[in-house]
Amino acid sequence: MLGYFPQVYPQELLYSVLARYHRHMGAPSFIQSMESLFGRRLVIANPDLPEHIDALAARIPPGRHLAADRIIDTMTLYPYYTAYQSQDVRQQVRHAMRVGEDGSVLLRLGIAAFRAGRVTQLRFCGSCLAQMRERYGELYWRRDHQLPSALVCPEHAKLLQVGTVRLTGCSRHRFVPADRQTCPWRAPAVIQDVATPIVETLHRLAVASAALLDDPGPPVTPQALTAFYSSAVQRTGLASLNGRVDQRQFDQAFRHHYRGGLPMLPGVMTGSRFTGDWLAAFVRKHRKARHPLQHLMVRDFLASRDSGGRPFGEGPWPCCNPLASHRGEAVVSDCRFHRNRAHWVGVFTCSCGYAYTRSFHPDTGKVGAPRFQAFGPSLGSVLGEMVAAGCSLREIARRLEIDPKTVLKLAAEFGIRTRWKAVSDRSPGSPRKTPTAVARSPEPSRRRSARCPRRNWVEIDTQVATKVREAAELIRAETPLVRVTTTAVERRFWNRGWICKRATKLPVSMQALGDVAESLESFQRRRAWWTILNMDRADEPLQVWRILRKAGLTDRHTSMVEGLLATHFNRGQAAA
Ligand SMILES: [Zn+2]
Ligand SMILES: [Zn+2]
Repeated sequence: MLGYFPQVYPQELLYSVLARYHRHMGAPSFIQSMESLFGRRLVIANPDLPEHIDALAARIPPGRHLAADRIIDTMTLYPYYTAYQSQDVRQQVRHAMRVGEDGSVLLRLGIAAFRAGRVTQLRFCGSCLAQMRERYGELYWRRDHQLPSALVCPEHAKLLQVGTVRLTGCSRHRFVPADRQTCPWRAPAVIQDVATPIVETLHRLAVASAALLDDPGPPVTPQALTAFYSSAVQRTGLASLNGRVDQRQFDQAFRHHYRGGLPMLPGVMTGSRFTGDWLAAFVRKHRKARHPLQHLMVRDFLASRDSGGRPFGEGPWPCCNPLASHRGEAVVSDCRFHRNRAHWVGVFTCSCGYAYTRSFHPDTGKVGAPRFQAFGPSLGSVLGEMVAAGCSLREIARRLEIDPKTVLKLAAEFGIRTRWKAVSDRSPGSPRKTPTAVARSPEPSRRRSARCPRRNWVEIDTQVATKVREAAELIRAETPLVRVTTTAVERRFWNRGWICKRATKLPVSMQALGDVAESLESFQRRRAWWTILNMDRADEPLQVWRILRKAGLTDRHTSMVEGLLATHFNRGQAAA
């Protein structure tokens, strides 16, 4: 047990505390200090990931509350080096540091890459030293000055200076304290000739690096990292809609972000290339652990490109399909972003196949109105029906909420033959519109007659009535259940009110509408029945109160549900 152990200063490295111990004790040789501290003569004086911590902790007076794990977490670079690592790796590294397996720590981290930027000469910040002298009367080595990704002091944003203590050769077995000899005023900076914008970038990185020491975050698996970076890159607009990253653009944007600062960071560049192509590998599958410096750099870049969270709010988002009964309901969970020069574009795709886009302008915060992008495959039959029913181009365009030109294009895509090539959607007497798809008519004189084919309303009525029953069937088949109403039927294939407005011309259809429309009561009955069947299938207890609650009904409906339950049980018995 040690009789004395120095006070530990804020952010002080264990290496530094042990160096001060040696100095304070005035021991004649390092070997003697090593024996007192570790119970062995030769210990490698690693400032970043020291070993034999268990032996040391056992010798520190218990009143100091410096257990091995606490030493590792607060006085070494362990939290930094094991950030973005799995629980498994963290435990292995911690174990190696505690028992000391002589050099196995880096091996546990699993990567030669982790050698990049490992400090070979301890660093300091002149401003920090002045503060130390004032507050504590002596100097010490800080943890956050020895991080490979910290080239400036996180606190003072000044370039760090390189002290005279070399951590190689015979000095590997000595703990050398910070003082005016090892931290001379005129010590060179870690990097030279750095422009101000680059210092700003380096400062951001240093702050993020130091933050890892206090909070390395939860352990993370390679799979989770792959998913995280993939979705983060999606939001930067550097990926196409199918999620593939445009590597060339990514590379360029990354270089631009660091404005020439890349060669100054350790292990980042080899010549003009990213060492080992690490940047490209970062947005592919994460198989092996990567240096925290790389994570921090990519995250800093991604943060700068991110649109500031979700400009279109949290999903799900509404579907805008004018043909769908769920129109206006928040059913869209697929939204992808890409960047289009100064603004962002969100592409919203519903499971019904309908897709629309919205723009977001970060400078004004404005979100543009939804813009049609695609109907699903279901459009083909609907469009065919409308064409067959003699609807005009203009009517269809209004119904689909797109311009007539797009209707023509879609009709062509679905191979639907129309007579619209000669059709104008301008009303008679109105000035001729600027050229659109409809203005390509080779024979303008025929336009009138083509636009207004005399309609055979009897035939149309029969067709519409059939469609009404079809629509009702489709609506009844939907889950969760939707009540079959006049509006719901009309919306399925036409506009709201399309049939009712033509009631006098469509008597058969009106009759059909009346037949298929559900009263509230019968809809509630259908919903209760559906609920019972589903609960039974899921082996849930068929209690009346449960059924009422699930079906969104109240006590008023108790007897109805009881009746349905009785029917259900009778059927079950009959079947058995
Ligand atoms: Zn400082
Ligand atoms: Zn939809």
